[in-house]
Amino acid sequence: MNPGYFSEHPGVGLGLAAACLVLAVCVLWLYWRERRRNLRLSLELKRVSHQMSTQSERDELTGLLTRSGFDAVLDTQVQKVDSAGGAFCVLYVALDNFGLLNDAFGQGVGDRLLKDVAQRLVQCTGPKAEACRIAAGEFALIVNGALAVGRTAASRVINTFAESFKFDLIQTQLSCSIGIASYPEHGSRAKLMGHAATAMRSVKLNGGSAFCQYDVKMGVEVREQAILVNELRNALELGQFELYFQPKIDAVSLQVTAAEVLLRWHHPERGLVSPVLFIPLAERYGLIGAIGNWVIEEACRKAAGWRERGLRMRVAVNISGYQMREDDLVERIEAALHRNGLQPGRFTCEITESVAMEDTKVTQLTFDKMRKAGFHVSIDDFGTGYSSLAALRRLPAAELKIDRAFVCDLEESEEARSIVKSIVSVAAALHLRVVAEGVETVGQCDLLVSLGCDELQGYLFSMPVPAEELERLALDEHRLKNVEFRPSLFSSTLAAELNPGLRPDPLP
Ligand code: C2E
Ligand code: CA
Ligand code: CA
Repeated sequence: MNPGYFSEHPGVGLGLAAACLVLAVCVLWLYWRERRRNLRLSLELKRVSHQMSTQSERDELTGLLTRSGFDAVLDTQVQKVDSAGGAFCVLYVALDNFGLLNDAFGQGVGDRLLKDVAQRLVQCTGPKAEACRIAAGEFALIVNGALAVGRTAASRVINTFAESFKFDLIQTQLSCSIGIASYPEHGSRAKLMGHAATAMRSVKLNGGSAFCQYDVKMGVEVREQAILVNELRNALELGQFELYFQPKIDAVSLQVTAAEVLLRWHHPERGLVSPVLFIPLAERYGLIGAIGNWVIEEACRKAAGWRERGLRMRVAVNISGYQMREDDLVERIEAALHRNGLQPGRFTCEITESVAMEDTKVTQLTFDKMRKAGFHVSIDDFGTGYSSLAALRRLPAAELKIDRAFVCDLEESEEARSIVKSIVSVAAALHLRVVAEGVETVGQCDLLVSLGCDELQGYLFSMPVPAEELERLALDEHRLKNVEFRPSLFSSTLAAELNPGLRPDPLP
């Protein structure tokens, strides 16, 4: 183009300049609009992500911190203590019986319970403590201060659970187990929650409803228990259980009236494991239902086998508190009796006094069903609970079984003798039979008979023995120590005497 062109045509130059200006303004406007949009978007994004993060830090049901929110607070606490000194404690709080209540009352009630628990935790530990919900029935608290402060807080939490939880028509009791770990005393940040949880499990191992602080020995104890529970889970399938039987003897005729069923676990490495060790574990870890069912079925099967070979033997099965709360326990026993062709009066349910006195609707309903079904009910470990006459009268019990502790002290202790005397007179007033367990000496036996006990059971007569051994004792010429065994097996049973409506099973 000719360089003099714009001077010769000034209008064209101006037009071009104006077009460039308009273009520049347009570009600038577009850029400004885009920036504003981006700014608005990023503000919105920030708002949403802030909302999301605060939401994920709070548990929707209880309003407490979630585990991730709690972890962030823990990190801050650790930094504070590291830079300024001092200490803080983590309290791991686990409800003892929440799973059971949740199953019994349903999830709606379970949620309300958790809300109440959360409120109580916040109220009793104060606004400075941080609380979080870790899992369904598990919480954690951060309390500022050393172990003494942690213990005071834990004791306050235990006390706040003493008051029952009430809403609508439901009133129930909850307890909790608390493990305490302190920073920096119990080690690094990474191990803190684990240590508090270990201490909590150790409390559960010892019956729950208490608190304790972490100790290095606990890790081993808890690990061993976890292994044992795992093995217990498989024991049924692997056929490691066996029933042992111990005879109950009539104090006057010295005839056998029944055989108490006592469970044994043949552990591949530990040998014979005592039910005192594994029944509480089975109860705590939800295994007692399946194990209890097996005991009932197997006891009926053995009793039917004996009957086929000419022995009429009533079996007494120990029923745990957990089984009493199952709503179909009686139906299951009836079905087992029916399958094995046995009468209900042939089956004794041994239920401990403390369980029998539980005033829960489910337990009382089970007792009512037992009465209707015609089972023989025995109140076990009697004298250790707090029975009232009125409560005893309501139960369909046929016998009281005096706890071994009183029998053991009988020869030396006047107090033990007067307790046995009182139990005998209570039983007489209620037309119940009295059985004394744990009889080991002739002296105890004589005293019990003179005090009016109706039946005796203990090593003096026989140790608990396998079914075949009991059968051999009965059918061979062998005799139980001090007892005429054979004739009693063919005579009428106590159940038939107590319930004249029930006839003994016809012999084949
Ligand atoms: P328990 O029902 O009070 O049973 C009596 C315990 O005393 C048995 O212990 C028995 O072997 C023992 N024993 C019997 N005679 C004597 C004696 O003369 N002296 C002494 N020192 N002890 C005697 P075992 O078999 O170890 O059972 C302990 C507990 O385990 C039982 O106490 C019962 O509560 C529970 N248990 C056993 N089998 C079962 C079961 O199948 N189901 C449930 N739920 N619990 C069971
Ligand atoms: Ca018993
Ligand atoms: Ca007992």
